[in-house]
Amino acid sequence: MNPYDVLGVSKDASDQEIKRAYRKLSKKYHPDLNHEPGAEEKFKEVNEAYEILSDPQKKAQYDQFGTTGGQQGFGGGQGFGGFDFGGSGAGGFDFGGSGAGGFEDIFSSFFGGGQSRNNNGPRQGRDLQYEMHLTFEEAIFGKKTEIKYTREENCKTCSGTGAKPGTSPVTCSKCHGRGFIQVQRQTPLGRMMSQQECDVCHGTGKEIKEKCSTCHGSGHVNEQHAIEVTVPAGVEDGNQMRLSGQGEAGVNGGPYGDLYIYFSVAPSDKFKRDGADIYLSLPISFVQAALGDEVEVDTVHGKVKMKIPAGTQTGTTFRLRGKGAPHLRAGGNGDQRVTVRIETPKNLNKKQREALKAFADSMGEDPSGDDSFFERWSKNKKTKRKK
Ligand code: ZN
Ligand code: ZN
Repeated sequence: MNPYDVLGVSKDASDQEIKRAYRKLSKKYHPDLNHEPGAEEKFKEVNEAYEILSDPQKKAQYDQFGTTGGQQGFGGGQGFGGFDFGGSGAGGFDFGGSGAGGFEDIFSSFFGGGQSRNNNGPRQGRDLQYEMHLTFEEAIFGKKTEIKYTREENCKTCSGTGAKPGTSPVTCSKCHGRGFIQVQRQTPLGRMMSQQECDVCHGTGKEIKEKCSTCHGSGHVNEQHAIEVTVPAGVEDGNQMRLSGQGEAGVNGGPYGDLYIYFSVAPSDKFKRDGADIYLSLPISFVQAALGDEVEVDTVHGKVKMKIPAGTQTGTTFRLRGKGAPHLRAGGNGDQRVTVRIETPKNLNKKQREALKAFADSMGEDPSGDDSFFERWSKNKKTKRKK
């Protein structure tokens, strides 16, 4: 696009001439006044041309390089031209709605609200985030639950237009329907032109003369929204689920945003979980380990019998096939892994101690317990003296 050609002025036209040409053409092609096909495109082109030629920096840049960098005419000036945070826009980064607007704030300062040149068209509403707390078991088996949250919904009185019923919004007089205006600002890198959301239409490109009394012209109202959510069996801590269209109402008739549900799963005091596999540590006595036994083991699916073979060592892991959590996508269950831990008996009575000593004897062992240590030590001394 050659801005001089678009405005029909020569390269050495004065600011006054440029302004005059722009006024004439923008009036001629204004979408409210001119309904011929192509008029709107022409109107946009005229605006883009004027954006360049009315800005000394951009004009100089164009004169020198034949371009101002921003391919779309969405320049925003130095460096930011190529970005397009439009369409669903900053919404992708702005979780939390009214809450954490951190990213949005950053974008606002750099990109003038993250608006693209298309922002006066239908725009999808913002995405919302909802944190759902689940117990260890709920995450494994899933559940159906109703959640409630506040979101912006389309105003029913005006069907989301923001205009008093019986009236309709008109093209914004300040930004001519573009939704943004050019502003010059001082930055550490010098003066920059950047785009800012139009303060009259708040980026919609439409001005509402008679506002809807319910929503005061915003087209949106905050409403308590309730939906039933089916938590799939097998979700894990940190998993997220997207519910399309359950976010906030769109702008200019755009679709609702999405709701992201984040699952926060409480730990179990018994089990550990890694994906579909569940881990359990099982204490057994050394007699059970030595002689073998059949024990009852807790699983999330109830108690299960498990055989402990004779001669089991501490730290041995047994697998209970299919007793884990469901695989979220693949179907079927993971396993439960049971690691046995041999517990050494404490506080033995005399009879038990003797039984163990007899056992040790039969193994050819001669353990020296604490109570016999001194006795044995003095015995050894005597033996040594005899020599
Ligand atoms: Zn309304
Ligand atoms: Zn406006």
